[in-house]
Amino acid sequence: PYDMLIVGGGPAGAAAAIYAARKGIRTGVVAERFGGQVLDTLAIENFISVEHTEGPKLAADLERHVRSYGVDIINEQRAEALVPGDYSEIRLADGGVLRARAIVLATGARWREINVPGEQEYRNRGVAYCPHCDGPLFKGKRVAVIGGGNSGVEAAIDLAGIVEHVTLIEFADQLRADAVLQDKLASLPNVRVVTSAQTTEITGDGNKVNGLVYKDRATGASHTVELAGVFVQIGLVPNTGFLKDTVELTPYGEIVTNARGETSVPGVFAAGDVTTVPYKQIVVAMGEGTKAALSAFDYLIRTPAP
Ligand code: FAD
Repeated sequence: PYDMLIVGGGPAGAAAAIYAARKGIRTGVVAERFGGQVLDTLAIENFISVEHTEGPKLAADLERHVRSYGVDIINEQRAEALVPGDYSEIRLADGGVLRARAIVLATGARWREINVPGEQEYRNRGVAYCPHCDGPLFKGKRVAVIGGGNSGVEAAIDLAGIVEHVTLIEFADQLRADAVLQDKLASLPNVRVVTSAQTTEITGDGNKVNGLVYKDRATGASHTVELAGVFVQIGLVPNTGFLKDTVELTPYGEIVTNARGETSVPGVFAAGDVTTVPYKQIVVAMGEGTKAALSAFDYLIRTPAP
């Protein structure tokens, strides 16, 4: 068995693994896809102290750093259940079982997609999901935000300060964001809000996004908006399906953690996008992974081995 087993090999899991291994304890990482969301990213320009890197390069750097400490990396294996105990078990899809005295859950999240033609084709070529990450790429250009909940309206307000113009597209007949955000949005001169609008296609010139088509749900008429970018803001889904009835989750499925990365189950810690931590970013996930591993180490030295 391991002293510490980390489930997930994104920035949070990699940071946890390095901090654990540096304590000289037996550390393993099991991941469906080592690198996590970083693998799906092109330019990264907010990884502090690195002006520019690319997702696949950062993922390879993470793996090299983790391996340099002799951490066991069990890649391309999916966890299907957690069974807490003195030695908690992680049951894998292939039937295998991994045991550890402390577990760090770092299985991340995925952006909900709108599933219209053009979304996959132009991903990272105009289709974006993270205004903090990609907003500056659209400086001086026209963009749309899809989704009128809090995250969509926050994104529209944020982007309006950077880009030339923002069209906010909401499926329902009114926005769902907090009133204070809606008031702020309404005060901005370069934002247009379109409600009762169903996005039907993201168009492009073969290389990058050049527009979006939506159907007015009241009249059935189709409209085209010319733009350079589309930010999809219809939700972030945490990868916690395998944790039902073990650790406490929010109604959205995020793992509830405290400031030390502790979950509701002793010996089980969590970090990164899969948790209730606000602001889902690489540097945040790394900091949280660090905290969870140090908390887990603290737990190990205070808890007698069974
Ligand atoms: P993830 O990166 O999601 O890693 C989760 C890990 O868990 C993966 O290894 C996954 O395979 C594994 N996993 C999931 N379920 C299971 C399971 N059941 N069993 C085993 N393993 C499992 N952030 C920035 O700071 N700057 C940017 O420029 C930036 N750009 C982005 C662009 C895109 C397109 C996307 C999608 C995200 C971007 N982000 C950016 C956000 C950033 O990638 C995330 O905040 C960060 O990767 C979260 O790290 P994490 O370790 O918590 O989770």
